[in-house]
Amino acid sequence: MLKKNYEQILDKIDNTCNSTNIPNSSVTLLAVSKTRTVEEIRILYDLGVRDFGENQVQELVKKYELLPKDIRWHMIGHLQRNKVKYIAPFIHCIHSVDSIRLAAEINKYAIKNNRIISVLIEINIANESSKFGLDIKEVPDFLDEIHVSKNIISNGFMTVAPYTQSPEDNREYFKKMYKLYIDIQNENRDNVNISVLSMGMSDDYQIAIEEGATIIRVGTELFGQRNYIR
Ligand SMILES: *Cc1c(COP(=O)(O)O)cnc(C)c1O
Repeated sequence: MLKKNYEQILDKIDNTCNSTNIPNSSVTLLAVSKTRTVEEIRILYDLGVRDFGENQVQELVKKYELLPKDIRWHMIGHLQRNKVKYIAPFIHCIHSVDSIRLAAEINKYAIKNNRIISVLIEINIANESSKFGLDIKEVPDFLDEIHVSKNIISNGFMTVAPYTQSPEDNREYFKKMYKLYIDIQNENRDNVNISVLSMGMSDDYQIAIEEGATIIRVGTELFGQRNYIR
């Protein structure tokens, strides 16, 4: 089932890219493996998937220890400062940076581990009270402030679009994200290298690709429904 789901998603990505003239090499499928077993991850790994996303530090560290070391692990969930130290030695990218204090803590542990850690700034694109993330207007000041953190590099932006019955509703939010991405790229800041736009999930990733996503985060369509109580 996993193999079939994976191949179908790759086909959909290809089709979306072809019909919008986007090179399909510019879109990375991030397999969201939260709640999934190492055996399931291993199946995808054997099919060539190298990017996996998790939202719990403990689960992420455990899977990191059990699985091949060339996997690129992405932290996509809300991150508490006191847990940064556990993932700093190996994390590939942290998608959920939403405060200066969190950025400073990541920088501190990046230094300790002698690494540069890639981060994305999380944007609360629809200003939902239930969601984490910055308002677009806060981004320039935020980038100014994290400028001092030399061991993190801001590679772009991430958003979790609203839950909706009709994914097409999210297109306007993806457009706003893309505009932010291009605007900040054009500022040519020296502390950033804006090349990643992480948006789109199982229900709306094709729309996100059409609007410029470079990373789509897919869980349910790849692995099936999640069961949180196993
Ligand atoms: C769980 C999760 C996803 C994947 O969602 P699906 O609808 O299962 O594809 C993507 N992004 C984040 C931040 C998540 O927590």
